[in-house]
Amino acid sequence: MVQRFESYIAGRWVAGSDFAPDENPSDLDAPVGEYATVDAGHAREAVEAAHAAQPAWAAATPQQRADVLDRVGSEILARKEALGRLLALEEGKPLSESIGEAARAGQIFKFFAGEALRIPGERLASVRPGVDIEITREPVGVVGVIAPWNFPLAIPAWKIAPALAYGNSVVFKPAEGVPGCAWALAEILSRAGLPAGVFNLVIGGGRSVGNALLTAPRLDALSFTGSVATGGQLLRTAAGRGLKIQMEMGGKNALVVMADADLELAVRCAIDGAYFSTGQRCTASSRLIVEAPVYERFVERMTQSLAELTVGPAVAEGTDIGPVANRSQFEQDLAYLEVGRSEGAELLWGGRPLDPGVRGYYLQPALLAAQPGHRVAMEEIFGPVACVMLAEDYDHALQLANDTEFGLCSGICTTSLRHATHFKRHAQVGMVMVNLPTAGVDPHVAFGGRKSSSYGAREQGRYAVEFYTTVKTAYTAA
Ligand code: NAD
Repeated sequence: MVQRFESYIAGRWVAGSDFAPDENPSDLDAPVGEYATVDAGHAREAVEAAHAAQPAWAAATPQQRADVLDRVGSEILARKEALGRLLALEEGKPLSESIGEAARAGQIFKFFAGEALRIPGERLASVRPGVDIEITREPVGVVGVIAPWNFPLAIPAWKIAPALAYGNSVVFKPAEGVPGCAWALAEILSRAGLPAGVFNLVIGGGRSVGNALLTAPRLDALSFTGSVATGGQLLRTAAGRGLKIQMEMGGKNALVVMADADLELAVRCAIDGAYFSTGQRCTASSRLIVEAPVYERFVERMTQSLAELTVGPAVAEGTDIGPVANRSQFEQDLAYLEVGRSEGAELLWGGRPLDPGVRGYYLQPALLAAQPGHRVAMEEIFGPVACVMLAEDYDHALQLANDTEFGLCSGICTTSLRHATHFKRHAQVGMVMVNLPTAGVDPHVAFGGRKSSSYGAREQGRYAVEFYTTVKTAYTAA
């Protein structure tokens, strides 16, 4: 029987009139299921339902909220294999990575179950005699969540869990292409003990349902993750209506490899950071900046390692790199490879579409030798395509690493404490890695970037409280 993915509004499952196939990028002839999209009216209805339900949820005790989140986390963890499989089929991430992402989503709900019991506040002395000051945090109200397709369980989890923990209600609009994961999350939330209307799912297009959510009068805040282009549009609309907004967007993350690095470690970091998850991570190491004395050896080891990677269906045994997640991303990757060719970047390895015997978006991971200023070295490609660039010395490497409009993550492979320490202080990013891939972060600490990669408060860990609450300062004359 074909599985059907529907929206969830005001405690009821809502099917649109038509169902469309949910594509499987590993096998275009075997869709994952069917999904129905709702329209702008449904999005507004969901915001109204969330607005009506929010005060009671805010009034629930922290223990009640913690219990709900804990149940959600436990169920996700208990079902991580099945949820990971759904993710792998729908998004194309290899099964082991997909199960890991499902587990991460469960851990995030568990973490914020604890945070619901630790909502911080302060009590201070006043400058005036006989006056006490209390600083407390209250929910923002109705939070909209607009998510991308590349982490279809973890990113919604790290937005929905803190929103609920701090007493907000939620309307979640997932990305096109991953309705199954969104539905699975909603289905678990629908049985966790939330009052009707506190959590809502609206499956639909960005311009229709996403825009209706953004412009709904009763929406109080929006947490967005996606591209810089979409983020820019959202920010203009949000500013026009004075909406609280937080945005995590693209990256063009540098991994610097110094001549003193453990070269094998550096190659492992580069392969993982640049190509795992098919390079479709905002923190992907898409710029490999290598100090001159080890450049040739690094490139040689990279091409040897790339030759050993198996590109194949996400759920097949032995797959290292799954397919590209969807047609438009596949076309974008190929278009950038053509851009690289036309601007003189040398293709060192890969870049060809592959046919492993099933119809899917298979692409050989590609390594380009690029120059600073090449578009392929400046713009986010968001696929299994990395550029390697030569640096004369450490200062040059740091300058190249910072020479980008993005500022999400940077990494350095080195055995020099001096270089590592300097890099941690001077990389113009929100997250910095030493002897680690740029992709791969912990769920309990701040996540986010600088420059055009991010806007607004940080996500995750204790830092999430900034966005999902509003501060109240109360003065009392004793
Ligand atoms: P996207 O910007 O195309 O879409 C993101 C979401 O916005 C989707 O749900 C989409 O439907 C919605 N949307 C599109 N137009 C809209 C509009 N006019 N109004 C309201 N909503 C609209 O991004 P994508 O292709 O889904 O994801 C890839 C991008 O996400 C990459 O740039 C990647 O770097 C970024 N990303 C960033 C992070 C991070 O934390 N920094 C994490 C993952 C992905």
